[in-house]
Amino acid sequence: MISIDELSIFAKKKGFVYPSTEIYGGMQGFFDYGPFGVELKNNIKSSWWKSFVQDRDDVHGLDGSLISSGKIWEASGHLANFADLLAECSKCGKNQRADHLVEDRLKIHADGLDAAALNKLIKENKIACQFCKGEFKEINSFNLMFPLQIGAEKTKESTAYLRGETAQMIFVNFKAVADSSRVKVPFGIAQIGKAFRNEISPRNFLFRTREFEQMELEFFTRKDEKCPFLDDSHLGQEFLFYSEEAQDQSKEHEQVSIKTMLEKKLLNEWHAYWLSFSFKWFLKLGIRQENLRVRQHLKKELSHYSSATFDIEYNFPFGWKEIHGNANRGQFDLTQHAKYSGKSMELFDEDTKEKLIPFVIEPSFGVDRAFLAVLYDAYSMRKDESGNEVVVLKFAPKVAPTKVAFFPLVNKLESKAREIYALFKEDFLSTFDRSGSIGRRYARADELGIPYCVTIDFETLEDGAVTVRDRDTMKQERVKIDSLKSYLQKNL
Ligand SMILES: [Zn+2]
Repeated sequence: MISIDELSIFAKKKGFVYPSTEIYGGMQGFFDYGPFGVELKNNIKSSWWKSFVQDRDDVHGLDGSLISSGKIWEASGHLANFADLLAECSKCGKNQRADHLVEDRLKIHADGLDAAALNKLIKENKIACQFCKGEFKEINSFNLMFPLQIGAEKTKESTAYLRGETAQMIFVNFKAVADSSRVKVPFGIAQIGKAFRNEISPRNFLFRTREFEQMELEFFTRKDEKCPFLDDSHLGQEFLFYSEEAQDQSKEHEQVSIKTMLEKKLLNEWHAYWLSFSFKWFLKLGIRQENLRVRQHLKKELSHYSSATFDIEYNFPFGWKEIHGNANRGQFDLTQHAKYSGKSMELFDEDTKEKLIPFVIEPSFGVDRAFLAVLYDAYSMRKDESGNEVVVLKFAPKVAPTKVAFFPLVNKLESKAREIYALFKEDFLSTFDRSGSIGRRYARADELGIPYCVTIDFETLEDGAVTVRDRDTMKQERVKIDSLKSYLQKNL
């Protein structure tokens, strides 16, 4: 497996992702998506929106503003709690995340440790600054919200924030959606959009950035309500599971099913359903199941709003890392907003004729992390026709940025080939490549993960057929132009 740095170089070279503001020296923690990256990213987002919103009757969409009042973040607890612990060198002044520092030096899991525990580890192990060997100061906390000023007048009220998560826009619009869409509990509100965190040390390419995109669903239920969709396809869903117990006892993850997790009362029915649904969605993106696992959060690392959280992790070269969080947020957010705004967050329950504040299950996805996992999982090497090692991105057809490449065998056939290309371009995102040998053109297509290449040759003029080459099997077959559309539809 290639390293994360090598992958970022490949992604830049092939037009997937560029470091942001590079001509002015770059900005750490920000990235721009290039021509192929934006297609791949959009495919991931539309697959999510279709599965989580459009294909369902019980989830409604939202697109909230990026800039929001400080009051929202005060109520949500972000201004008080959304912070990282900072280790600052007393000599050179350079600083870094204290848990990362401890993890890197001591090779232990330090996520969720508090300031006192981290201070103790740094002192006991005599961890010094890697730049100047200086001593670290006592650990400080650093808030991750990005503040900004609205309008010309500087007051407390004019201080706003770039949103730290999309979830809060859903909670503050909860009543508006409920009142305008005639929904009944259980129901959900979903959103895809950017969020911002002023990370102390962005790292690992797209994994930890300061600006990123989220796909979040807040699903509102009654307390411990039964879930009618929890059928055998979900109950029988198995995956590698790293339980709190296994982590505490330094044991390995093991294969379990959703059914076993329910029997052990690790989570309630709706939580189990959304965890299974989310896991299945990653499989739909084409990610191999053996590279995914579910990890239970330890009590001490649970966020301030959560009573139970399960991450879905991907096996990156820098370790198993979170690409999805599935949290039971209970009534925390709605009651906080009711308290701080003075507005009721209660709904009238037609069934029981009582008022209720729903309980929330939150499946939360990072678009960029899903993108990174898809790219990693697709990345593979093989020997080409001439024995050279080449890169093949084995994207599932639904996420592939380009679906088909059209080639004229020789330049003489270009106008015929363009004619055929024009027939298909509208239905299948396609590209046209006329330069270099056919072998070279196949290699270029493989590096971009294009599932099918179509070559127009001299025989095409006589038999009305083209050569279709499959990216993964490298097999070639003759297909009549008349049936090419149905052929591609079937295979893509
Ligand atoms: Zn230093």
